[in-house]
Amino acid sequence: MTRTTPPASSATSNNSIAILDSADVLVLGAGASGLVCAAQCAARGRSVLVLDHADRCGRKVRVSGGGKCNFTNLGATAADYACANPHFVKSALARFTPQDALAFVRRHRLPVVDMGRNMLFSEDANQVAEALLADALAAGARCAFGVRVLGAEPLSENPNARFLVRTERGAFSGQSLVVATGGLAWPQVGATAIGYEIARAFGLGVTPLRPGLAPFTAPPELAAFCADLAGVSLPARIVIADRDARPRKKLPIFAADLLFTHRGISGPVCLDASVFWTPGDVLLIDLLPGADVAAAFAAHRKMALENLLARLLPRRLAQALCALRGWSGTPAALAPKKLAEIEAALHGLPLRPSGTEGHERSEATLGGVDVARISSKTLEARDVPGLYFTGEVLDVTGRLGGYNLQWAWASGFTAGQFA
Ligand SMILES: Cc1cc2nc3c(=O)[nH]c(=O)nc-3n(C[C@H](O)[C@H](O)[C@H](O)COP(=O)(O)OP(=O)(O)OC[C@H]3O[C@@H](n4cnc5c(N)ncnc54)[C@H](O)[C@@H]3O)c2cc1C
Repeated sequence: MTRTTPPASSATSNNSIAILDSADVLVLGAGASGLVCAAQCAARGRSVLVLDHADRCGRKVRVSGGGKCNFTNLGATAADYACANPHFVKSALARFTPQDALAFVRRHRLPVVDMGRNMLFSEDANQVAEALLADALAAGARCAFGVRVLGAEPLSENPNARFLVRTERGAFSGQSLVVATGGLAWPQVGATAIGYEIARAFGLGVTPLRPGLAPFTAPPELAAFCADLAGVSLPARIVIADRDARPRKKLPIFAADLLFTHRGISGPVCLDASVFWTPGDVLLIDLLPGADVAAAFAAHRKMALENLLARLLPRRLAQALCALRGWSGTPAALAPKKLAEIEAALHGLPLRPSGTEGHERSEATLGGVDVARISSKTLEARDVPGLYFTGEVLDVTGRLGGYNLQWAWASGFTAGQFA
């Protein structure tokens, strides 16, 4: 891999700060959005220096999609993103579409695997990360690895050196500054809070940060129920409801596999729902999507409920549900009202999570740099000319299925046209 390391020392700025190196555009973070942005800026003839504390590029890209990188979702629209301003993502998503992401992967001759539901994967996430770096370097950007960013501040009124970035190696200056340092998910691959700290240092707001795309933890009354079922999985549908179990309007209905865990519930359907879940909300879990439970009761009137349910659900779950809810007897022996109640519970088992597992187990960060003071057209801070934010550091979180990388590419590409 080609890399540059900063020179040991060099010129001194007008503020008597030793500047190790400078560029038209300093990009903080050689991840998904930072490298796309760097390639675009360099292609416009800007000198670009990317700084990253990792020893190689795109560490989060490399673990994405279980190592197979779900690089886009062909159906991505603004409705697939949680953001304080639901319109914010539209401009960037229109500027760089999922078809553009597909063209990038094809241009690098990487395999494309259609996993259904509009989700496109590549075979090897490492190759995607290397392709990002190759594009940035080919366009003329320089990348310095092993450089931990500690902070950024305004440097001078001089538009050629507006920003100062402090790192463990020393200081860097730039005309434009792109903060592409990602979110807090998976600190084990180098996630830090530096992007939020820089935003605050320049007077921008940061909305509350929570793990997104994360497993749910069970409430105390269902902790043993879930733990006993750890390892059981089944297709399910989840509707998010308020505290009074009234379904929240305008939210998607989530459908995919659910997995019981020692701490609660997980699986793709839960990770997906966690993006729009707020603490206190109830999950209404359809354990038998599309199944006609009433017809099953009518067809097996003399069968013990537990055995009947075991025909429809994993047996351990059928047994645990009967024990939890005190269901027993046969359909023939139960009143129609009771049967209707059982059917309703199977199609909408209420569970109010106590929370989600932490950032270590989440795949994205909910919340981030408040988009209220960021231009959706350019991703530049409205009050700080030359300062840009891209990717996950912003208050934009996509659903499960390639949406977050699509946002990273689109936002990096967009800022790359202006920075
Ligand atoms: C396990 C896992 C699987 C995922 N799978 C998918 C998937 O298949 N599809 C999908 O769409 N999304 C997926 N995501 C989410 C997706 O990877 C991220 O949303 C995306 O990478 C964000 O891009 P970014 O450029 O904003 O940040 P990142 O790609 O995280 O890049 C940020 C960069 O900043 C650097 N950095 C951070 N702090 C500092 C500092 N102080 N100094 C210097 N450098 C710093 C980091 O080293 C990193 O290189 C997954 C996430 C995880 C954790």
